[in-house]
Amino acid sequence: MKKKLKVPIKPDSRLVTSGRDPEAYYGFVNPPVYHASTLLYPTAEDQVAHRARYNYGRRGTPTTEALENALREIDGESCAGVALLPSGLAAIAVALLAAAGSGDHVLVPDSVYRPTRNFCNGVFKRLGAETTYYDPMIGADIVKLFKPNTRAVFVEAPGSQSFEMQDIPTIASVAHDKRAIVLMDNTWATPLYFRAFEKGVDMQIQAGTKYIGGHSDIMFGCVSANAATLPALKDTVYSMGLCVGPDDMYLALRGLRTLGVRLARHFQSGLRVARWLEQRPEVLRVMHPALESDPGHHIWKRDFTGACGLFSIVLKPTSEQSVHAFLNELALFGLGYSWGGFESLAILFDCTEYRTATKWAPGGPAIRFHIGLEDPDDLIADLERGFGALAAAERR
Ligand SMILES: *Cc1c(COP(=O)(O)O)cnc(C)c1O
Repeated sequence: MKKKLKVPIKPDSRLVTSGRDPEAYYGFVNPPVYHASTLLYPTAEDQVAHRARYNYGRRGTPTTEALENALREIDGESCAGVALLPSGLAAIAVALLAAAGSGDHVLVPDSVYRPTRNFCNGVFKRLGAETTYYDPMIGADIVKLFKPNTRAVFVEAPGSQSFEMQDIPTIASVAHDKRAIVLMDNTWATPLYFRAFEKGVDMQIQAGTKYIGGHSDIMFGCVSANAATLPALKDTVYSMGLCVGPDDMYLALRGLRTLGVRLARHFQSGLRVARWLEQRPEVLRVMHPALESDPGHHIWKRDFTGACGLFSIVLKPTSEQSVHAFLNELALFGLGYSWGGFESLAILFDCTEYRTATKWAPGGPAIRFHIGLEDPDDLIADLERGFGALAAAERR
């Protein structure tokens, strides 16, 4: 049998080794992709006694187990188990359903991923759960928003689209004093750049569609839970019959192996483009917590070890046509939702209509960028041509 390491290893080594068991698969490096529903028992006695390592496709196969084990090992010792879901949003919905129900109250940041808000205002409300939105920068003052029935605090840092940072250790310590649990959407930093469990998070959600997949070709989500919250999580997932297609699980596992090198490049190129944009006369401000100018920079520096390739900018006031001219001129940036793939993206966004605890008044048109794995020199040249088109449109 091949020697198993008993010493702690660093995150990049963990990404390569986690969830692997070549000896179980005739020595092949990767596990097989089991397309499976029914599992056959050798005898009636075995079936009656449920004597099998697996029992049904929905409840998991060796492919499921390899991905769950890999994700759990990456999260470290405080992670008791992982649930795999068919999308990031499904992971968010399941985590909230596991955490609270009828008659319960949850706290959710105003800057949360918008579909999370839709879930809270729709299904969750219909089930009798109440949501209060809070200013993401609230810090210790969150204590004032607790009610006797507050069961969970949701956090997401930086905020979707507008990149507010949250003081998660402080919020978690208040929540735990109040006997509430902390759920985090950690899609932006991933466990490589934010160690959620070590900062007080009880359930960590990731939209694996983004960086875990990394190639814009799968929908996938996962929730990692500590020992206290895992039973409710697993029960919710099993009761709702949720499972992931085997090919998507396989691609998620494959994506994990290169997550470290991809994220490092997204971080480096993203910061370089953000710094370039910060110097541009057309740009009012850049929202990227790794920039010294960012209001949340001190929190990022204290709690995070990196950044991904996603950030936003606000342009100085200009006409809609000029902004469209800028975006239409870009050749390397696709105009599309989602992010985390190898390709660069840009989208216009406006949070004005749906924020309720804070006011969104950025002072100009806002654009979110995803910096992909292209050469940043080419991306900067593309943006420069875009600004040329913007200026030409302004002159018209
Ligand atoms: C994209 C995204 C999700 C949802 O993931 P899907 O796989 O698209 O459902 C959740 N949270 C954040 C922060 C996201 O950006």
